[in-house]
Formats: sequence, structure tokens, C-alpha cells
Amino acid sequence: MKILVINSGSSSLKFQLLNTLGLSPVISGMIDRIGVKQSKFSYTLYRGKEIVNKIDQFSYIKDTTDAFKLLIDMLQNSGVINASTDLTAIGHRVVHGGDQFNQPVLITGSVLDSIRKNIPLAPLHNPANLKGIDICRETFPAIPQVAVFDTAFHQTMPEKAYRYPLENTLYGEHKIRRYGFHGTSHQYVANCAAQVLDKSVSQLNLITLHLGNGASAAAIQAGQSVDTSMGMTPLEGLMMGTRCGDIDPGIIFYLARNSELDFDEIDSQLNHQSGLYGICGLNDMREIQQQAEHGEKHAKLAIEMYCYRIKKYIGAYFAILGRLDGLVFTAGIGENSQTVRLLVCQGLEHFGIHIDPKKNNITINSATEIQTNESPVKILVVPTNEETEIARQTLTCI
Ligand code: ADP
Repeated sequence: MKILVINSGSSSLKFQLLNTLGLSPVISGMIDRIGVKQSKFSYTLYRGKEIVNKIDQFSYIKDTTDAFKLLIDMLQNSGVINASTDLTAIGHRVVHGGDQFNQPVLITGSVLDSIRKNIPLAPLHNPANLKGIDICRETFPAIPQVAVFDTAFHQTMPEKAYRYPLENTLYGEHKIRRYGFHGTSHQYVANCAAQVLDKSVSQLNLITLHLGNGASAAAIQAGQSVDTSMGMTPLEGLMMGTRCGDIDPGIIFYLARNSELDFDEIDSQLNHQSGLYGICGLNDMREIQQQAEHGEKHAKLAIEMYCYRIKKYIGAYFAILGRLDGLVFTAGIGENSQTVRLLVCQGLEHFGIHIDPKKNNITINSATEIQTNESPVKILVVPTNEETEIARQTLTCI
């Protein structure tokens, strides 16, 4: 039996089929650039943990419905699913669960209504997630489908952390509060860190740093999220690939009054033209590091700002946790950039954070500790795996 994990976005469809027993991958991939002239369908087939085949196909895929058709045909033609009864369940990543969902749920009509009600909170993501759910329910009506929310893990935040210091009615009427995102990833790497440290996650205080194109930090106390850097939207917090993260909100009013930009253009500026890209014109950390090595000053500044801002969050979260057992790096940059990990940790020795440059300087494929032997705080690099976590939560739910 197998479990299918679906992450249906506005222009991409990511998927993974896993064996229900042991959650090993069978096939994983992505259809990207949906609705763009040349779409890309790429997938990898596994036997055990070994990759047996990698396939890339290019064609025009006009919309999400066609993308799903292509995916389901491929799953059936390649023989990995012979009948719909081969599926135990389908787990869907849903970005915004508002304050209604603190755990995964079996999808019913009323769950769909709630996800729909949260569209204003995630206007790009929730409709795309809903579309994927609708298609899967039509295609596999007898298979249980589960929604796993990106916001759910952070629902344990106390009110003092999730409220903004704004008038109460804005919270009551408009639900303006911190929700946080990347919850599945923060939860997954926290559990992996606990395994590596041979402790129960409920015994640990951790700071987890999810550093991908989007980036967020979470303060995890006794296994529960007590604060996180992304807010009501994924725009708040750390500096990201193209998002600005924390800025003075007054900048928005200033730009609205004094620049040529209209409201939507300011939104686009802060979401798509800021962050690393805004400072150095690139949002791929590999390229930025190369440029910085060649002395390009904007690339150097972008990396300095990126790490400086992460450090500020580590300081803040250390203060609220009181005791820190582990600092966890994950996602594309966290897992692969030795430079970023080193710059983030350097200067934090007085917090008990001592990185071992030699351990940091190796390519890391599985959860690994990179602190010195004397470091009171463990420093871990943990490859995230949101699909496995969604599959695990889906199984638990059904
Ligand atoms: P997404 O949020 O799209 O899932 P990822 O977690 O894949 O993003 O992270 C993408 C980021 O990881 C990019 O900035 C990319 O440059 C960076 N990255 C990937 N590999 C490396 C590497 N070897 N060194 C530095 N940065 C890397």
C-alpha cells in the first residue's frame, strides 16, 4: 500500500508517493511552470533508498487540471499504482489553516469550507491547494484525503507571542495575528534532532532555522512552537530570497505617498524584488557566494545582512527560551551553505554556541552534529523532508 503526498501550488505541482510501511519513497517529482510556454515535468523513481531513474519532460501544460491528469497517467502507466485501491490515503499540504486547525484533519465538506474561509489570509496558496484537493477527491473518491497545514505546528504559540500590538478589533474582526509557516518542516527537523540527540523532543529547547528561498526561525520549547519569525503572512521575519522580512511598516506608507509605486507594486516590491535579490540582484545563495568570493561588494553585503538578521533572531529566541539545547539548520541554504552556518554561529560563543569549522566543512546528507566537543549547545544540520512528515501525519490522522 502507498500514500500520495500532494503540494499543489499556483504554478507548480509537487508530489511524492511513499510506501505506507516505513515511508520510503517510491517516486517523487514536480510539474513546474504550469501555464508557461514550456512546462517541466520531472520525477525520480526509487528502489529502496536507491535512485533507479530520473526523468525530465518538457511540454506545455496549460493548467492544474492538466497537470494532475499527466501525473495520474504517469503513476498508472509506470505501474507504481495499479489500482486506486493501492492507495491508503492522500495527504495534501495546505498553507493556511488560520486558527481553526492545530493538527491534520480528514478532509470533509466543512473542512473545505474552513480552508476556503482562509483564502484572504493566503490568497495565492489556499485556492491552489483547494484545486488539488478537488481534483484528487474526484479522481479517487474512495480514498481518505487529509489536509496537513503549514500553520498548524505554530498554533501552540502563547497569545503574547501571536498577537500584534494593534487594536483588539483588528484581531477580533480581521484575525490579524501571527500564524507562522513552514510548520511541517520545523516539526520534522525538531523530531529528527531529538532522535540524533537521543532525547524525547519534549525534553528539548531548540531554535530551528528553515533557510530556503523562504526562510523562518522557530523557538521550540519542550517540543512545542512558542514563537516563529513569519507572521500573519510569510513576509515577516528573516531576510529571504526575494522577500524583505522585517522592515519598518512605515516604509510602506512612505512609498505609497512618495513614490510612483501603487499598492500592488509595493506588495510585489516587498515580496519579489527584496531580500537577497534586492541587495545584490541574485536570489540563489550559490551564485551569491561565488560573487562574494570574487569580491563583489553587493553580494558580500547581502550575505552579511542575511546572517546578521538570523543572529538577531537567535538572540531573541535564546532570551525567551531561557535554556537552549540545540540550534538546527535546515532547507537549501541551511543544509548546504557552510559559509552561512559559519557566519551565523561565529560570535555566539558567549551563548554556548561553538561551531566546529571542520565538521561544518563537509557535505551533509543526513542529520549531523557540527558543534565542537565542548559546546554546551548542540548545532545540527538536518535535511528537511516535508513530504515524509506530511505522509506520517496523514497516516496518524487516518
Ligand atoms: P524552497 O524554499 O524553494 O524549497 P530550497 O529549500 O530548495 O528552497 O532552498 C533554495 C536555496 O538553497 C537557494 O538559495 C539555493 O541557492 C540554496 N542552496 C542550494 N544548494 C546550495 C549550496 N550547495 N550552497 C549554498 N546554497 C545552496
